[in-house]
Formats: sequence, C-alpha cells, structure tokens
Amino acid sequence: MNDTRDYGAKRDFRDTPEPRGGEGAESRSHDRPRFVVQEHDASSHHFDFRLEVDGVLRSWAVPKGPSTDPREKRLALPTEDHPLEYADFEGVIPKDEYGAGAVIIWDRGSYRSPAGDVEDENEGAGEAPDIAAALDDGHATVWLDGEKLRGGYALTRITGGEREGQRWLLVKMDDEKADARRNPVSTEPRSVKSGKTLEELEQDEGG
Ligand code: MN
Repeated sequence: MNDTRDYGAKRDFRDTPEPRGGEGAESRSHDRPRFVVQEHDASSHHFDFRLEVDGVLRSWAVPKGPSTDPREKRLALPTEDHPLEYADFEGVIPKDEYGAGAVIIWDRGSYRSPAGDVEDENEGAGEAPDIAAALDDGHATVWLDGEKLRGGYALTRITGGEREGQRWLLVKMDDEKADARRNPVSTEPRSVKSGKTLEELEQDEGG
C-alpha cells in the first residue's frame, strides 16, 4: 500500500522546508513516471533513490549511491513513501528535524520499462510500466532516462519483513549504458537543479 501518512507523521512542517505534499501542485503532469536521486547529508550520508509509482515516490536510501558498473551491488534500504512534490526539493533540513542535513537533487528524469521499449512506442509515451506489481514481488527493472543515470537498473529485495526493515539491492543492468569507469557518485557531484555541490548548498543555506 502506497501512501504518504508515514512521511507526514515524521515531520513538523512548521520547521522543515520540505514539501507537505497533497497540495496538488505537482500531481501527475508528466507523460512518463519520474525518478529522482537526492544526495542527503544526514547523520549518515546517503543517496535517496525515488521512483514515481501510483501517485507517490517509492523510496530507498542507498548508502554508497547508484553505480554505473553492473558488477557493483548497492545496498538499498526502503524508506517511507514521499509525496510527488518531493522530487523538486532541494534545501537544508534544520537541526533536530527528521533527516536533518542538506539535500541536493543529484539526478532526475523519467523512467520506463526496459522490456517494453517497442510496446511503449506503439502505445505512446503515456504508458507506465507495471512497476507496482513488480516491486510487490520483490524484483523490478527500470530504464532510467536521467542526466547522469541512464539505462537499465534492477531493484531486488533480499530480505523480507516490514517495508522499512527490508534490504534491497540496486544494480546496473549490463546494457549499452553500463560503464564500469564512470563512477558518477564521485566524479559528477553537482546538483542537476542548482549546479551546487552538497557543501555549497550547505554554505549558502545552512544556519
Ligand atoms: Mn534521506
């Protein structure tokens, strides 16, 4: 069940600049579902990988960030569904608030089904892959059309239980966009929204 009640319950919107969600400002206005990767300098630094699924952003915290090397398996820990508006959020979450620390939009774009390329062309760009069912089954593949991340990625659940206790792996699929040498997490650190690094955003907006 996707919903953003946990998201709302964890935050005090009088104090955090994060979007409350549900304001209708950024409801489904794009032809294809979106993805975003936010770099987050929280108590432990990580990258938040989020996919638009059924009106929310399904989310995983990826401690090492996504790789472009198919041999690199990146641990991905599910977090609460976020509202779609969160895909545009970049800023500093104040000290003492949930997730305190700076957030930049490290990458963003749209995604589609890797297997459905021909089908997508026939049906037009509005068709979203049935990602929800695949995620419920614990294995989903998506083709990312981002600025830094491109090509197929597989998300695979490796332990069960409640969503936020599960462990998943995020792995680049071995396709023409795979590149073992790129390592964009370290070589392409700037926000695709503001052009700032996490440190620059912290300096400009931090308290
Ligand atoms: Mn985070």
